[in-house]
Amino acid sequence: MQKLSFSFLVGCLLLSTGIIAQPDRWQQKIKYTINVNMNVATNQFNGTEKIDYFNQSPDTLTKVFMHLYWNAFQPNSSMDVRSRELGKTKLADPRRNNDGLDWDARVKDRISKLKPDEIGYQNVKSVLINGVAQKLIEHETILEIVLTKPILPKSKITMDVAFEAQVPVQIRRSGRDNAEGIRYSMAQWYPKVVEYDYQGWHANPYIAREFYGVWGDFDVNITIDKKYLVTAGGDLLNANEIGFGYEAKGVQVKPATGNTLTWKWQANNVHDFMWAADPNYKLITRTIPGGPLLKIVYKQVDSLENRWQKMADTCALIYPIIAKTFGAYPYKTYTFVQGGDGGMEYPMATLIKSASIGTAVHEWMHSWYQMILGSNESLYAWMDEGFTDYSSTRAMAMLRNSPGFWYNGSYGGYYRLARSGYEEPASTHADHFNTNFASTSSAYSKGAVFMEQLGYIVGADTRDKILHAYFNTWKFKHPNPNDFIRIAEKISGLELDWYKEYWIYSTKTIDYAVGDIAMVDNKTSITIKRIGKMPMPIDVLVTYKDGTQEMHYMPLNLMYGAKPLETKTPTTVHAPWKWTHPDYSFTTSRAVGEIKSIEIDPSQRLADINKTNNKLVIPE
Ligand SMILES: [Zn+2]
Repeated sequence: MQKLSFSFLVGCLLLSTGIIAQPDRWQQKIKYTINVNMNVATNQFNGTEKIDYFNQSPDTLTKVFMHLYWNAFQPNSSMDVRSRELGKTKLADPRRNNDGLDWDARVKDRISKLKPDEIGYQNVKSVLINGVAQKLIEHETILEIVLTKPILPKSKITMDVAFEAQVPVQIRRSGRDNAEGIRYSMAQWYPKVVEYDYQGWHANPYIAREFYGVWGDFDVNITIDKKYLVTAGGDLLNANEIGFGYEAKGVQVKPATGNTLTWKWQANNVHDFMWAADPNYKLITRTIPGGPLLKIVYKQVDSLENRWQKMADTCALIYPIIAKTFGAYPYKTYTFVQGGDGGMEYPMATLIKSASIGTAVHEWMHSWYQMILGSNESLYAWMDEGFTDYSSTRAMAMLRNSPGFWYNGSYGGYYRLARSGYEEPASTHADHFNTNFASTSSAYSKGAVFMEQLGYIVGADTRDKILHAYFNTWKFKHPNPNDFIRIAEKISGLELDWYKEYWIYSTKTIDYAVGDIAMVDNKTSITIKRIGKMPMPIDVLVTYKDGTQEMHYMPLNLMYGAKPLETKTPTTVHAPWKWTHPDYSFTTSRAVGEIKSIEIDPSQRLADINKTNNKLVIPE
């Protein structure tokens, strides 16, 4: 893969999809060559970046923005003040472990207490283009580079960046000396060019949430104390000089002569680069036939050794399930790295706090939705966290042979959100929700329910075809919500814009109820009532006292079609229910006295916020 050009690669990937026309959206491209020299005594480093930036847009750019994430870890930064502000909200939900407060338990007010040698910073000393210094304006976590000469459409510039940085004490995601004692969790660690796309620059200050970047190639040379084992989301080019278990079998590694080693890493066709280092790291690997080489890097603690080994085995076991259901992982390696403060995803690697299998699989599944599809997480967090939560939970359920085990988690989370009074549309920018609670619940729970409930609307098999077509069509392309819905419409043959508009762009909820029952000739007329403001297609299961069952299906008129039958139960497909009409009546085949129960959506996939009125059991 390294030898192929980026556009050739993307072209091949798209040609293999078949059904769907190739999207023709342009995107920027980048190549970084980064050299850093880490001082493990001061936790500071100097760095240089040579950045080839390809402006593939039709626009002339007069400025370039860069992220300086670590400047967030300073007292009174936007991240600090925002966290303390959100911490003033007392939430009703007692399950949260944040003293019942709305702040992130990992951040709280910790940034406000950092001392000068504990803060983080990234200080760009100079940016040269063709040897000419550019004007720099620092806006805390965003650097604005005012260009002396604009970048013309379809042209390339090379920037030479000199910077210095201090690794913050680990507060959130990256940093030094985390709770498990990992020395360096090096995420968001270099000045990173902001993505510019058809919606313009995405110069989001670093407040809390996640990342969006330009796809490209990284060559990263890390010089550090020779006692440290370095790991990264990428391939180690000089493994046979480095050793530490990276070397090829049988290679005799020459001992380093000085006090440091320079680790030469490469990662191609990725939109970020993370590394980590610790003198007590241990490296183990697992090979997967037809899949990537898994590397697992963790701090050696005897009592935890079994857990890491088991996690490694499980990740190798689950890969074929993931590849079959959601598409193949395209890179050669993936690395699980102990570090950070929970689980956080990066290209070709993740930082996880401990050997939790659930967390490991979740973070790896981000490779599909965040690293390979790469939706803008600030704008469409539900397409990343939601789809990742859905797919990782489903993969775990398939591995454990317990289908449906995600209902409680994701549906339960969504119901708590919908009833909380804090809900805002899932289309809200992730950092701009009024509460962390609503931001998180809408991204994870409501986003995961979106996908499972889509299976209710179009049929589960069709939804699975949509997942494959979406991945194959949009990988390495930054899809947006409309791109997903258009794929879903094309594969299902149904109109689905209404689903996106209600579920993502509004907070309207679903509530259907079994209404009046009346005898008509020798049959039964059943009325279903729409109480909630969000309309949906409706399945109703009628069970008779003799045990026979019949399904009644009312597509929504806005779909302009019906899902394929999903059940062997005899099903009557009724005329579409018009979304404007609050009631719908249909007739069953038998008399009311023979009916035992009437149940809306026995599959439980409809996110009906009041299920107490969904089933009527007629007393004997
Ligand atoms: Zn996640």
